[in-house]
Amino acid sequence: MTSPTIAAFGRTSSRLTVGGVPVDRLAERVGGTPFFAYDRRLLTERVALVRSTLPAGVELGYAVKANPMPAVVQHLSGLVDALDVASALEMRTALDTPLPADRISFAGPGKTAAELTQAVAAGVTIELESETEAARLVAVGDRLGIRPQVAVRVNPDFSIKGSGMRMGGGPQQFGVDAERVPALLKELAHVDVDVLGFHIFAGSQNLRADILCAAQRNTVDLALRLAAYAPAPVRYLNIGGGFGIPYFERDVPLDLAPIGENLAALLTDSVRPNLPDARVVVELGRFLVGECGVYVTRVVDRKESRGRVFLVVDGGLHHQLAASGNFGQVIRRNYPIAIGNRIDEEPTETATVVGCLCTPLDLLGDNVSLPAAEVDDLVVVFQAGAYGLTASPTAFLSHPVPAEVLV
Ligand SMILES: *Cc1c(COP(=O)(O)O)cnc(C)c1O
Repeated sequence: MTSPTIAAFGRTSSRLTVGGVPVDRLAERVGGTPFFAYDRRLLTERVALVRSTLPAGVELGYAVKANPMPAVVQHLSGLVDALDVASALEMRTALDTPLPADRISFAGPGKTAAELTQAVAAGVTIELESETEAARLVAVGDRLGIRPQVAVRVNPDFSIKGSGMRMGGGPQQFGVDAERVPALLKELAHVDVDVLGFHIFAGSQNLRADILCAAQRNTVDLALRLAAYAPAPVRYLNIGGGFGIPYFERDVPLDLAPIGENLAALLTDSVRPNLPDARVVVELGRFLVGECGVYVTRVVDRKESRGRVFLVVDGGLHHQLAASGNFGQVIRRNYPIAIGNRIDEEPTETATVVGCLCTPLDLLGDNVSLPAAEVDDLVVVFQAGAYGLTASPTAFLSHPVPAEVLV
């Protein structure tokens, strides 16, 4: 049986393909293993899938930190309406795309005067994370003689359940607490900044459509309440995203249809009548890229230790930390894994896939059912398109940094 994951990428008789190229041939093309490969067609299809469910008039943004590889960002820039960045380097990558600066927003706590200067000079929208940041930004704008475009990032007065990472509600380092936003808006009315609107993001990696729908309703309600205090008509409303992807066997993929319907109703009943000038942006990271990438490693050693088979590969947690279970996960579970050059073979053994780092943390697959693999076979870890290489401690153990290719 071919898993949906393998079917999405495609295969020749025995090999997984990425972008139509068999993985073993891709390894030769790249010049060796390990490497990350992202499938251009899958990225395009993913955006089309989201577009087909979002109501007309809702814009789609890409959160660059999920995968900031310049070629990926460049490709997506032609398909989405907006890019959200979280550092000066991500901003530079976004500014290199054909998207105009006013379609780029810069979020994240702790922005320095230097970063704010670059953002104001570029003309990107700055998502204000605190009162201190607001004061710093006003000073930067004054010095440059440029009026900064801002949105206030709001830490909502509600929180959502079922998110892999909560990023709003309760005490947070993100955004300005909702109850303090009116006072901040009052101050901003008297200084030289253009307040475009709000950015409200409650959490990430959620697989429950009902919870995401409730979060979107609460988000729009909150935005409408805060809009009453805004110094100018709201022209920008970033309602976050949080769409999750299935990483583990029992995860059920997110059902987009109810989310689309919910958003359509919110748009017609609440947003358009009350905030007629607002661009509404849904901002997604992992949902657009996570399932479009693989991490390809090669078996260097096959060992048996006291009845257990170990496949030692030439990669590890230094490149793909999340697959080892050490990227914020509470319980470690296996990411989908396959032997990329034995896709046609049935599983015949249980093997534990470990990386080449000298630490027991470096576990990529614990007791996985696999075809019997040998030295030089290719072990492919799926769901590697988001929070892979750039979310991993590449300097740990001082191995070389792997290549990334968009195919
Ligand atoms: C990280 C981040 C995202 C993307 O989250 P995903 O789970 O990858 O979709 C979106 N918005 C903001 C503000 C973020 O910081």
